[in-house]
Amino acid sequence: MATVWVLGDQLNVAIGALAAADPSRDTVLMVESARKIGSRPWHRQRLHFYLSSMRHFAADLRAAGWRVDYRHAPTMGAGLAAHIAEHSPDRVVATEPNSVAARAMFQRLGVETVASDQFLTPIADFAAWAATRKQLKMEDFYRRQRVRLGYLMDGEAPAGGQWNYDHENREPPPKKGPWPWPAPPVSALDAIDAEVIAALPADSTGEAPTGTWAVTRAQALERLDHFVSNVLPMFGPHEDAMLAGNWHLAHSMLSPCLNSGLLLPGEVCDAVQRAFDAGRVPIASAEGFIRQVIGWREYVRGLYWLWMPEYAHLNELGATRPLPPVFRDSSRTEMACMKWCVGEVESRAWTHHIPRLMVMGNLALIAGVDPGEMTEWMWESFVDGAEWVMVPNVVGMSLHADGGRMATKPYAAGGAYIDRMGDFCKGCRYDRKARTGDDACPFTTLYWDFLLRHSERFVRNPRMGTQVRAAQKLSDADAVRQRAADVLQMLDSGRL
Ligand SMILES: Cc1cc2nc3c(=O)[nH]c(=O)nc-3n(C[C@H](O)[C@H](O)[C@H](O)COP(=O)(O)OP(=O)(O)OC[C@H]3O[C@@H](n4cnc5c(N)ncnc54)[C@H](O)[C@@H]3O)c2cc1C
Ligand code: SF4
Repeated sequence: MATVWVLGDQLNVAIGALAAADPSRDTVLMVESARKIGSRPWHRQRLHFYLSSMRHFAADLRAAGWRVDYRHAPTMGAGLAAHIAEHSPDRVVATEPNSVAARAMFQRLGVETVASDQFLTPIADFAAWAATRKQLKMEDFYRRQRVRLGYLMDGEAPAGGQWNYDHENREPPPKKGPWPWPAPPVSALDAIDAEVIAALPADSTGEAPTGTWAVTRAQALERLDHFVSNVLPMFGPHEDAMLAGNWHLAHSMLSPCLNSGLLLPGEVCDAVQRAFDAGRVPIASAEGFIRQVIGWREYVRGLYWLWMPEYAHLNELGATRPLPPVFRDSSRTEMACMKWCVGEVESRAWTHHIPRLMVMGNLALIAGVDPGEMTEWMWESFVDGAEWVMVPNVVGMSLHADGGRMATKPYAAGGAYIDRMGDFCKGCRYDRKARTGDDACPFTTLYWDFLLRHSERFVRNPRMGTQVRAAQKLSDADAVRQRAADVLQMLDSGRL
């Protein structure tokens, strides 16, 4: 008899060790570790999603005839030891895990692992590709993925004649409603959910779960079907837009299910391909979405395994500011964009990519927030948080703490960008155009200050040089620096 140990981000019977196991012979082990649960103040919806998905998965396995040993233990190791003492398995096997820490844990505990097919790109395949390149450009990797996996291909050419329709997908928000994007499905909370919610630690943050996030395979498939049938045809044009009155736009919100294993990337892309083949989805929408999944998602996972564990500790810009209070409490800030973005995190544990990158990440970048602190905050606050995707996105993409290994330029922006892509600035107490004075937009001030502070580093960067030279020519540079110092002081003391 073998034991198959399934972790909370491997919840799928079709992958790795579980796919190879036999329910009439083998036992499944799942462990809830008290140490992990108590390790930080998790957002309620994040912790609920994780625990409820695990418990529902165990219930579904039992219903399908599996023997499941579901343990509540002080640590993962203690859970395994108690299981071995009681069941004496011949061997303990698991699917290759998704984090450096879990890999080390399996090695330490002597757990055998089998290759994971939870992703579309084996780790060794990405490393082999990377070894042949001078620069690891996402676009090069993505095109190779299209050819290798065959999505949206006409023989050897890209369907529609172009590899990338990104330029069609950067529209600002529509001027007025009604918005065309249907509301996402909501599932009723059941007895398992109630049990999880009742036992959430007292220091959990954010609002209580409402059924927004799928916690079973059936709910995940319902979300996928809703997205492909009703939303995907609109995916793309407003991908980067932010609207105070609409939190989801045409995003899929499938990231939590993809990261937990409730959905597999291949089946998600197959559903998109079928809808495209049936003429129900324009090429720009299908391509825009497929690029996120077979491109960005697989690319950041490849980089994670290529560069960890050192990568998580990089801090090339020497950013040491503790996480400002506004990230943990949206109620007092007068920055309308931050109030909305952090408020969304509080109420749903999720925002789409642009609030993460161009508002919250941008503020952390231009204010010089410590990358480790920012990663920790995102890690505990977002329902889809997973180290393999969060670390490259925070350290590399957002905070440029890797010195440009992942993104060739820092995603720094002032109020003008946020005004163009969102609808917050009109009602804000600050003036997005002003960089000095009491009403100056903190983003605009800090953006110019960031360019001045790091001008030596970025002046020769072909994608940044023009902006840096413009900053160097500012006649009010001293006033900008002074206002930036005041803004940072207010940010640190929670008065901004
Ligand atoms: C600072 C920062 C932190 C992030 N942290 C996470 C995280 O912890 N977990 C996470 O899943 N995503 C993270 N992302 C990526 C991205 O923001 C989310 O995947 C996306 O917003 C999830 O919403 P969605 O499912 O509606 O995505 P959609 O817009 O519908 O995109 C479809 C899918 O593509 C994948 N995807 C899109 N962009 C990325 C990306 N940059 N990296 C990897 N996969 C991507 C996701 O699986 C997503 O579900 C982060 C981005 C930034 C800038
Ligand atoms: S003016 Fe500045 S602080 Fe206010 S919403 Fe616009 S970008 Fe945000």
